[in-house]
Amino acid sequence: MTDQPETRVVTGLGVADGIGVGRAVCVAGRAADVFRLPIDASGIEREIERLRDAVERAQEELDTTRERAGRELGPELAAIFEAHTLMLDDRAFLGRIEQCIREEHVNAEWAVHKTTEELERRFEALDSPDHKARLEDLLDVAQYLLRFLSGGQRPSLGDFDEDVVVVADDLTPSEAVRLGRERVAGFAIENGGPTSHTTIIARSLHLPLVAGLESVMDVVSSEERIIVDGGEGKVILNPTPELVEEYKRRHREQEDEARRKTRSRTQKAVTLDGVEIQLLANIDLPEEIHEAVDFGAEGIGLYRSEFLYIEKSPALPNEEEHVEIYGRLLKTISPRPVTIRTFDLGGRKLAQEVLDTREANPVLGLRGIRLTLARRDIFKIQIRALLRAGFEGKLKIMIPMVSALEEVLQFKALVAEARAELTREGFEPCCDYQLGVMVEVPSAALVADALAKEVDFFSIGTNDLIQYAMAVDRNNEHVSYLYRPLHPAILRLIRQTTASAARAGIDVSICGEMAAEPRYAPLLIGLGLRSLSASPRAIPELKKRIRELAVEEWRQLAYRCLDLSTADEVEDLLERNQITEEMAS
Ligand code: PEP
Ligand code: MG
Repeated sequence: MTDQPETRVVTGLGVADGIGVGRAVCVAGRAADVFRLPIDASGIEREIERLRDAVERAQEELDTTRERAGRELGPELAAIFEAHTLMLDDRAFLGRIEQCIREEHVNAEWAVHKTTEELERRFEALDSPDHKARLEDLLDVAQYLLRFLSGGQRPSLGDFDEDVVVVADDLTPSEAVRLGRERVAGFAIENGGPTSHTTIIARSLHLPLVAGLESVMDVVSSEERIIVDGGEGKVILNPTPELVEEYKRRHREQEDEARRKTRSRTQKAVTLDGVEIQLLANIDLPEEIHEAVDFGAEGIGLYRSEFLYIEKSPALPNEEEHVEIYGRLLKTISPRPVTIRTFDLGGRKLAQEVLDTREANPVLGLRGIRLTLARRDIFKIQIRALLRAGFEGKLKIMIPMVSALEEVLQFKALVAEARAELTREGFEPCCDYQLGVMVEVPSAALVADALAKEVDFFSIGTNDLIQYAMAVDRNNEHVSYLYRPLHPAILRLIRQTTASAARAGIDVSICGEMAAEPRYAPLLIGLGLRSLSASPRAIPELKKRIRELAVEEWRQLAYRCLDLSTADEVEDLLERNQITEEMAS
């Protein structure tokens, strides 16, 4: 008998390729990023001390709040805080938390989270108004305790002496960036999908991510060794040492393969019938610019500037920091263009943490250009910085989430204001840049002809275009089966956009994840696109596919696809044609 625990395999959606091996660290992202950290026997009493200390401080604050509420707002409101104090005095509640620390050897934060979750389930089952009120008190008190325990600090993974695999119910893109820069080898997540921002960030960091792993948090225990295989969409718990070695070898091979692909960087992306296709890179983090160059990008088609916030959150980047980063990007890749998308905050991206916007349905709320126009004071800084940095290279400014022409006009007015301000202050604002919009809301695609009169280029954002056209949350694994890039509705929106751009004589590119898939490249080119923007590592395969196809043939096929009724029919037609093409070659 060995004491090797049983090896188990859990399967989900492999959405970010690669292999990662490490110790599991659980993060309850839905509960404000509570980490489960292992505590050894000698640290248990210290954890309990931390808990008691937090309780004491929470009690002091509640006492003060209760007295003030009583004085200023009357006894009824003071009674709410009375209930909270009572709960903090409740030995049963605190006893359970302490027991969890002792028995499971976990940190106090996790014990508070887990105990609260268990009680929450019980209260919910009771389903009476009285218990509902008590449940609310419980959740409030748990938040209080967590605040006092962590002091607003998230734990660092830098202290681990081995790589870590983050296992989470949910993970925000900002947390993924923060963790990804530490000792993280991969992510295993309960929700998510192929185009969720957390997935996109994992790809930028070259970390594997398996999403849609239902209840994975319940089956993984802390510090268990696990393997994440993003290509196969599986997570292996407690792998044998032989399996670990095997996967580490495969990981090295994948890295070598990626390096080999950089060799095609000087080759042109030209079709068999001589049409040149521009291949650009999407980047989320400034350091990716070097990889874009290595993999042969002819420029940056999308820099998601909102991730600048991640470095700074909860503070905002100042104007000089913006200028420095944009200048560096432009200079590094000059004379090739850099498309800097103005902040696309909102939705799941940071607006709550940074700007304190609370919305019931943020994906349909103050996101992208809407937030920019609502908070001009903050976002004018970015525009000023772009106008100051624009001299360093070929700048393209791109507006996200445009749904109506007025937004473009208002953005232009904001640019004019920033320009006038800079001139008054003695700065020379750059005039030599292009202005474009993302076409990622169906209404923008449908009025693309009007938008085209006001801008120099379009970039089609299929990640959101599919989300909004199909009414499918791109982060929700339960409806991901409906998230079909090849749905004829999406192809028609793309075609409408390319046709409007062609009529107006402006450039059009595509920067959604759909553009990174070599299988779709012929169809997109057939629909009129001559520029694709994808993550740097996707470029060599795209180039290879482009060099094998003839545009005219795919133009005709694309038109046939536009007339089909379902995504399956389009998929079939594409599949048959690719096979015919392969047989002919
Ligand atoms: C898109 O929506 O396709 C896009 C590229 O933007 P993001 O993924 O950042 O929403
Ligand atoms: Mg988008």
